[in-house]
Amino acid sequence: MHFTQFVVLLVVFSTFFCSCSYNTPISEASYRFVQLVLSIHSSESNGNLLWLQHGVIIRGDQRRPTSFNTFNPDEYMLDDVILWDPLSVSSNLTLWCPNCLEYSGAHLPLKATRWKDGRTKCDEPRRLYGLTNNILLVSRVYVCDRRHQIIAHDPSILSQVKGLLPFPFVLFHKSGVTNELHRFIISHANAGLTISEIQTIWLQTMYDAYGSRREA
Ligand SMILES: [Zn+2]
Repeated sequence: MHFTQFVVLLVVFSTFFCSCSYNTPISEASYRFVQLVLSIHSSESNGNLLWLQHGVIIRGDQRRPTSFNTFNPDEYMLDDVILWDPLSVSSNLTLWCPNCLEYSGAHLPLKATRWKDGRTKCDEPRRLYGLTNNILLVSRVYVCDRRHQIIAHDPSILSQVKGLLPFPFVLFHKSGVTNELHRFIISHANAGLTISEIQTIWLQTMYDAYGSRREA
């Protein structure tokens, strides 16, 4: 595929995904799932569980084995979750405050604070689109000693960890997709399908996956 085709494809999809993202609010059940994931993650004995690691897609289906509450029928519609906290990956990794660097040339290290976990309107997780389900990108908020705050998926943070960590997503201006969906789109475009045809196959894939979760 030519580079220009690739750019056109991304622009079309980013417009499509942006228009979707304003129309579909994040459900209460998904917020509860985020809180459940974070509460398990924050307990010392569970913080190292592989399925709860930074950058792993935590499937909404996992609500069931992790829940002690009565299963709610609408929970097969839960969004998947990605916890995004590059600082947690290695104690040797230092991230610098981009504001301090830009305005005073000072290297101030960032420290982790809260999560973008939907507790307040200011801390909504970012919505991503996946091949078989929607995803909530629950990023850590970092802060420097001068109290600048920055989200862990901000381009200025991603540029500091590029090449050190794999990214499970591709972010557009206001929305984004998982790598899995990104590869699906590119692969089908390379095979000669139109944008409209790819959208149709993708939506059918989502619908089929939703059906499978419902039957499970
Ligand atoms: Zn700063």
